[in-house]
Amino acid sequence: RGAVIVMHDVTELRRLEQMRTEFVANVSHELRTPLTSIKGFVETLLDGAADVPSLRERFLKIIQAETLRLQRLIEDLLTLAHFEGRENRGELGSGKISYLQQAYKKIQPVILSFAQVKGIEVEIDLPDDLPPLSIGEDLLSQLLLNLLENAVKYTTEGRVWLKAQAYEGAVRLEFGDTGCGIPEEMLPRIFERFYRVDKARSREQGGTGLGLSIVKHMVEGVGGTINVTSELGVGTVFICDLPRAK
Ligand code: ADP
Repeated sequence: RGAVIVMHDVTELRRLEQMRTEFVANVSHELRTPLTSIKGFVETLLDGAADVPSLRERFLKIIQAETLRLQRLIEDLLTLAHFEGRENRGELGSGKISYLQQAYKKIQPVILSFAQVKGIEVEIDLPDDLPPLSIGEDLLSQLLLNLLENAVKYTTEGRVWLKAQAYEGAVRLEFGDTGCGIPEEMLPRIFERFYRVDKARSREQGGTGLGLSIVKHMVEGVGGTINVTSELGVGTVFICDLPRAK
């Protein structure tokens, strides 16, 4: 029996080691891609393209976009690293308190302007008498931002919504959209770091592939749960239960 347990541990260690190696390879690749592009366009500008106004403008815009991408990536990596060390369920939420309406107000302008550009309706239904939650307000805002931004990002027409309902001990948040949906076989993987269903689409929309893994770490860190259901071409719904403040 002892030997079986040791074998099992070795397999688990190998799996963790492989995940770590993959993560480092992914990070390097994700950082190198925009850097290579920035380097190339800077060299082209120095080689004479800077003297042609139309090229100069275009290339500088590309450099700006790639720089922003690098910045976002580094911010997301730091956020992830911050949460990964504190995975114990409930630990992040203990002693914290925040209100959903207030956390939403902070990110509302970003979501509404993004949705407006894409011509998508946003429906927010947060009852006035929701109990406070056992999570810091900045964390809650970031959670709402990541999930609502995704909903808008992966929807081309229709609407996105956020509903909340109080249960005994918890508040259930429902984030829905009438977007592209996620193939069933990929659903279990979308919370993994750097996993994207459509890499080109995510990249084009400024995604880093880290948003959902940050969300999952945060939710579990405060003792909550998050699940997803989706239908291709119909839409996606994330259900997130967050514990009430004691
Ligand atoms: P990204 O930065 O690529 O959006 P995330 O970690 O936030 O990374 O999401 C991982 C992947 O899950 C996305 O690339 C996308 O394929 C899929 N996804 C997330 N949210 C949605 C949604 N609301 N509708 C459809 N696909 C989604």
